[in-house]
Amino acid sequence: MSEKINPWQVALEQLKSAADLLDVDPGYIAFLSTPKRILEVSVPVRMDDGSLNVFEGFRVQHSDARGPYKGGIRYHPKVSLDEVKALSMWMTWKTAVVDVPLGGGKGGIICDPKAMSDGEVERMTRRYAYMISDIIGPFTDIPAPDVYTEAKHMAWIMDTYSTLKGHIEPGLITGKPIPLGGSLGRGQATSRGVAIVVGAAAKKLNIPLKNARIAIQGYGNAGMNAALLFNNDYGSKIIAVSDSKGGIFNRDGLNPAKVQEHKEKTGSVINYPGSKNITNEELLTTDTDVLIPAALEGVLTSKNADGVKARIIAEAANGPCTPGADRVFHQKKILHIPDILANAGGVTVSYFEWVQNLQRYEWSEAEVNQKLNDKMVAAFNSTYDASVKYNVEMRRGALTLAVERVIDAIKLRGIWP
Ligand code: NAD
Repeated sequence: MSEKINPWQVALEQLKSAADLLDVDPGYIAFLSTPKRILEVSVPVRMDDGSLNVFEGFRVQHSDARGPYKGGIRYHPKVSLDEVKALSMWMTWKTAVVDVPLGGGKGGIICDPKAMSDGEVERMTRRYAYMISDIIGPFTDIPAPDVYTEAKHMAWIMDTYSTLKGHIEPGLITGKPIPLGGSLGRGQATSRGVAIVVGAAAKKLNIPLKNARIAIQGYGNAGMNAALLFNNDYGSKIIAVSDSKGGIFNRDGLNPAKVQEHKEKTGSVINYPGSKNITNEELLTTDTDVLIPAALEGVLTSKNADGVKARIIAEAANGPCTPGADRVFHQKKILHIPDILANAGGVTVSYFEWVQNLQRYEWSEAEVNQKLNDKMVAAFNSTYDASVKYNVEMRRGALTLAVERVIDAIKLRGIWP
């Protein structure tokens, strides 16, 4: 179904589309069209059977104009340098849109962690951390979890780095376990951010979130937490959800906590009692007020976008819509909140985690959530205003805002030497 597109080409096209609207020296756009540094490492790992495997890994640092590079580390067989480069550029825009003093970076290892033991993954993670340790650090480049990495990987990386430096350095990395300096509220931060910007969008369209109908593709960390938050905190109706095996629909609303229990018991949301099974394709075109793609890239394309009936789309996933779909949604006047804004709650609370680590201090969950709310609402409003100013879709609005902020920082700092 997906329009096969190279993510780096998409990222460059997006940068150009923002540059076309801005009156800037093309030299700055050329500067931002290449990552500042790319490190490629070959990671030898002793496997459990005694054999030696070598994994290819990357750390890409796109821009540190506004602050230390920031971005996750992804483990997946399909990781490629172009993908990591694109993700690093998107991190630069994401941190600029939510206006936190960080830049953009990303890392990845080409591997299949599902086929590896915990010990093998730990040895690979620590060796990779060792090999990139010269270029990461609490004031230079701060990694975080991404696809198939989580708190335990962050703990291994922090421990490896801290052991090398001779002192514990929690500010090196975010998304850590709470006892090692992880932030309260980080686990749900991405979904909470999605809920906050959907709330802001709904206000613009005069749609009350109470009883608003919500369809969510993907019932993992991002999708499931979003369902729980919308249902519990806003009184919205979750009418459809899905996972890789298929979806379920109930026009009167599903109980997200019970769906979660059912998924834990059976391995999928499908066949949830009292609901109708639907396909993932049907979920995307369900008659709903809000559609939240929270699973894969490239699921909404020029082929199926016309069938989307939602009035608001919020991209919890990274890159779920192709440029072709973007154009259709703009024509249909759907309020389409792009990933670099919609799912930026995670990096925003990562920033809060880093601040707490540097201060050796802990904030309450209520404080974290309040600060997240303020950041996300401000970012939504600035993006909305930019899209109105340039008469473009929200994605281009967010990009122009971000590119402008990054170029301002480069200009103010100057080019030296
Ligand atoms: P996850 O692995 O916890 O969940 C992914 C979900 O998608 C699972 O329910 C899985 O069954 C479902 N899925 C897989 N293939 C599918 C298919 N073909 N059709 C429908 N559903 C399918 O991952 P996550 O952390 O929730 O991340 C989901 C997306 O959100 C990714 O694009 C990720 O980059 C993005 N994101 C997540 C976070 C975060 O904090 N978790 C932050 C920013 C962006």
